[in-house]
Amino acid sequence: MTQENPQRSFTVHRTVAMAVDPIHVGTGGSRLGRVDNSIVRDPVTRVPKIPGSSLAGVHRAYTAMALEDARVGGRYQDPRNDKRKDNPFYPNCAGQGQTEGQAHCGDKTCPICSIFGHASFAGLATFSDAQVLLFPVPTREGPIWVTSPGTLRFIGVRAEAKQDVVCRETDRSLNLGWLLLPREEWSNAQDAKKALNELDIPKHVRDSLALVSDKLFGHVVNSNLEVRTSVAINSATGAAEDGALFTYEALPRATVLVWDVTCRDPRHFGRSQGANPHGTVEKAHALLEALGIGGMGSRGMGRLRVLCSKEVTR
Ligand SMILES: [Zn+2]
Repeated sequence: MTQENPQRSFTVHRTVAMAVDPIHVGTGGSRLGRVDNSIVRDPVTRVPKIPGSSLAGVHRAYTAMALEDARVGGRYQDPRNDKRKDNPFYPNCAGQGQTEGQAHCGDKTCPICSIFGHASFAGLATFSDAQVLLFPVPTREGPIWVTSPGTLRFIGVRAEAKQDVVCRETDRSLNLGWLLLPREEWSNAQDAKKALNELDIPKHVRDSLALVSDKLFGHVVNSNLEVRTSVAINSATGAAEDGALFTYEALPRATVLVWDVTCRDPRHFGRSQGANPHGTVEKAHALLEALGIGGMGSRGMGRLRVLCSKEVTR
């Protein structure tokens, strides 16, 4: 739970999640209808990421679902001035608000419209892109989670790595997939382990870390993505589309992602007094693990387990 701090106009909440399934967030949006086989990448590092806009969209949908479920079940008192029965949080306040007959309610007291925005309000919560924090690579020692200095900077850890070496605490060289790399000592590995422990990263992951340069990290990640082949299904006929076999890339299971949610103080915008925006955002986490992100949940893709969600000072 977040304590509201009257001295600050915003709070930052760090979220760390592990992929339960391969994760595919395509460049063409979250719909499979548009066949698109590449995932979104950071333009500089070429490392795949999940855009903040995709995170916001999926959190909006799942928060609306969770609140509607609780409202109908009598476990949540609808705080809105407009309490029409035909104006449910889900689907109306979910989505982009452009579907005929399913507009955002836009009520100043609506938690979904206040947090995620509506036509005349940008919303209290802003999502950063989700970055790959730790990337699992098969090695002869079992899976090793690889990270880089630029990646660790996101969680406030300083680290250095030369090109073409792998930095570890143990004294053995290591193959990362097809790459056999000489080893150097990772002198301040304890700093990273401590920070990762504070983010509730499991011990077996913290004990199997390797650090490589930012440049090498991009290569390691991109050469160890999952590539799957699938068939596009015509939604009208339910049959496979002719010639619609396609391949797509995905972040593998056990990839650890990190993102920040910045929440502005509702009171500065005439929104509900004492409301806790991030407490509402967190209601999406159970559905993120059950239904996933990227619109391919039905294909056993996209489920994310939130390991940690806590306020940080920045
Ligand atoms: Zn609403």
